[in-house]
Amino acid sequence: MFYKDLANDIGEEKFIGNAEFYILVAMSSKEFPYNYEELLERAYKLLPKKVTVRVERFKVPRPEVVISGKRTFIQNFKQICDILNRDPKIVLRYLLRELAAPGVLEGNTAVIMGEKSERVIRSIIDRFVKDYVICPVCKQPDTSLVKEKKMMFIVCMACGAKSAVRPI
Ligand SMILES: [Zn+2]
Repeated sequence: MFYKDLANDIGEEKFIGNAEFYILVAMSSKEFPYNYEELLERAYKLLPKKVTVRVERFKVPRPEVVISGKRTFIQNFKQICDILNRDPKIVLRYLLRELAAPGVLEGNTAVIMGEKSERVIRSIIDRFVKDYVICPVCKQPDTSLVKEKKMMFIVCMACGAKSAVRPI
């Protein structure tokens, strides 16, 4: 089937991102006598549920960055940490180390000394996700970060792997 082939050809995750685009392409073809809603429904029915769920659940929000008085405020910091299922203290420690700047948590907000751009903060959070959230074995994000003595591990709830990571 057309969508199944497309999903296989370009990879499921990319397919989700491009589903609407391909629907528009399909609509312009005479082979597809469906309207937009029908096509959308068909396309999503063909997607494996697990992939859809993972992508939806794992949308890391943009950091809401405000710079004021030579300080940088990430206003939705706690929310980001909740979605990553990580202790805000650990995420902040990582962020501060990467930024080489001091900072504190104030409620839901991370306050960092100095002026840091949203772009820089985003790239550090992306790196954190890659190195400390995603399971290196199966690439799923359903993991926890466990500290044992001086070691740190990503423990994966999907495949059960326990992978050592550089301690934060
Ligand atoms: Zn895994």
